[in-house]
Amino acid sequence: MATGQAEAALAPAMETAEGARRFREIIDALPAAIYTTDADGRVTHFNPAAVAFAGRVPELGTDRWCVTWRLYNPDGSPLPHDECPMAAALKEGRIVRGAECMMERPDGERIWFTPFPVLLRDAEGRITGGVNMLIDITDRKRAEEKLRTSEEHLRMALEAGKFGHWQRNGEGRILYVSPQCKGHFGLAPDEPVTAEAIFSAIHPEDREKVKQASERAFAESGDYEADYRCIWPDGSVHWLNSRGRVAGDSVPARLFGVTVEITQRKRAEVWLDGQRQVLEMLAKGAPLPEVLAVLIRALEKQAEELLGAVLIRDGNRFGKGIGPSLPQEYVRALDGAPIAPPYLGPCGMAVDRGETVMVRDIAGDERWPAAYRTFACGHGLRACLSVPIFASNGRTLGSFGIYSRAPMGSESIDAQLLRTATHLAGIAIESAQAQEALRRSEAAARDIAERLKGTNERLRRANFELQQFAYTASHDLQEPLRNIAVYSEMVNRRYAQALDEDGREFLGFVTAGAKRMEMLIKDLLSYTQITSAPDTDEEQTDAATALTAAVSNLAETIRETGAEITHGELPVLRIRETELQRLLQNLIGNGIKYRRAEEPPRIHIWAEREGDLWRLAVRDNGIGIAPEYRETVFGMFKRLHGDGKYPGTGIGLAICHKIAERHGGRIWVESETGRGSTFFFTLPGVEER
Ligand code: ADP
Repeated sequence: MATGQAEAALAPAMETAEGARRFREIIDALPAAIYTTDADGRVTHFNPAAVAFAGRVPELGTDRWCVTWRLYNPDGSPLPHDECPMAAALKEGRIVRGAECMMERPDGERIWFTPFPVLLRDAEGRITGGVNMLIDITDRKRAEEKLRTSEEHLRMALEAGKFGHWQRNGEGRILYVSPQCKGHFGLAPDEPVTAEAIFSAIHPEDREKVKQASERAFAESGDYEADYRCIWPDGSVHWLNSRGRVAGDSVPARLFGVTVEITQRKRAEVWLDGQRQVLEMLAKGAPLPEVLAVLIRALEKQAEELLGAVLIRDGNRFGKGIGPSLPQEYVRALDGAPIAPPYLGPCGMAVDRGETVMVRDIAGDERWPAAYRTFACGHGLRACLSVPIFASNGRTLGSFGIYSRAPMGSESIDAQLLRTATHLAGIAIESAQAQEALRRSEAAARDIAERLKGTNERLRRANFELQQFAYTASHDLQEPLRNIAVYSEMVNRRYAQALDEDGREFLGFVTAGAKRMEMLIKDLLSYTQITSAPDTDEEQTDAATALTAAVSNLAETIRETGAEITHGELPVLRIRETELQRLLQNLIGNGIKYRRAEEPPRIHIWAEREGDLWRLAVRDNGIGIAPEYRETVFGMFKRLHGDGKYPGTGIGLAICHKIAERHGGRIWVESETGRGSTFFFTLPGVEER
């Protein structure tokens, strides 16, 4: 209702006392806070809603202009009662509509409200009083405040996160793009933006992906998300992430969203992925050039304009370089470049001195030999950073060269990144070199093993042939020898009388020689009969049984010499019985043979554990063996007492040695001259089950 109409409607009602009463009744029944004043603004009536609203009972005739306690302007400054909208209306006839004020109740609560003052006039148009209705707008004001705060928070969050925001409709028309968002596409904040400008800033390879994501969001009234690259007017490439949601309730549907630049994150992902790949390849033993190429490519993706190369040191020169993105002609030219001065470029210097060398502008840098500088510049290379690659022991393995097609500064590449790259390259080179060394030494070891196998085989064959020869020779010698013995015996029997003294003596030599020869051949045959084939698991002998057999073979000698043979507890051994018997018989026989004249031989045999083997001992009380002969006595035909006093061939101990050795054991002697000897030998036992 317009103010004028309200006045017109109220005025007649107030003219009569009855009318005024009815008017007050109506006011009292209304739920809104309403009061009336006279022309001077003194409160003449108020309804219960006004009391509840103001939190106080107004004083009739005293309160002026307002029923409230304290008043404030929207900006929080105090509003004197006589300046309130009701006062303005009554004093100046000026009706202010839609004013927003705040009042404070005596209990301290503040309430926003809008007053609706209406003037009452008499028939002549003079102001006779006013009616004011106060509408509580606190809820609305609080909601507005909340909205403002949350919008402010949102704005701050978007700014802090460097988020751009935008809106577009289903036809692709841009409805709004924030300045930050324009920046993401490489556009100036004040530049007008069209959908075409945005779309053409997107990397051609990613356009389809972005288009499909937004079409799907509209089709499903759902969410939109895409990671894509965009190319700024300066040519640099930036990764963006856009997320949005279609507000389906607005017609036509709109897509609201935010963009954020994720170039660093994407680069870090690429770099991490590159490192992972390199480590995987190293674990699989991939060829070094392939590993380094992956590493270099991952590094190149970290910044525009960068090209990497790894040069590996090979003595005082560089070996074959790896630079997958560099002009190959350039990389080839570095092959075999000397590391000593004059350097071809900073890489040699970096390796030689073990320090990083930065050449900001190749064209004007004296550190490049003129011809080579022209060559580098000819390939568009403007700057180069060379970092030495160290091995774990500190020696330089090569250099990591980072070339740029633009002049370079120290900020062009992250130092940490560079450290990781050179470290990884170092690991790759070192592990490749270690593998190569291993491969070479394995090949050498294989070669040696192969040759050893050949030698062993030849040796085995020679041994076999020798044994065959010794066997055949000694076997075949027996026959003519027997003839000599038999016929010399016959000559002796039949013609001894016909011979003179010398003849008989010579015949005696022939017979004795033949006998000795027979002994020798017998022993030689025994020696050759000890085969070199190892015994099988079944060949087990109780040493006590073998000892009994040996002693019984020596019974006559024992009886003649009065020898005393004793023994301790003896084990079961893994050896053929004849061999163990021969061993014991030889040692006991020697013990008796090499006895001292003044004492009858006393021989004791016992056994002790020695690791997996058994150690047997044969001790005698004979003449003993001088220390210098303790090794030689085991040699073939080695005799210490060959002057005729002791018969023998010098083969007995050689046989013992051969038997012990071919069973994985050994034999040795401990002795004191004149006080007896103890022969020890070891042999494998039989596991108790
Ligand atoms: P032989 O047939 O001469 O006994 P062996 O090979 O059995 O040949 O012994 C080699 C040499 O070792 C002997 O000639 C002897 O000088 C010495 N010898 C062996 N056993 C003993 C021993 N028990 N006491 C002293 N000397 C020994």
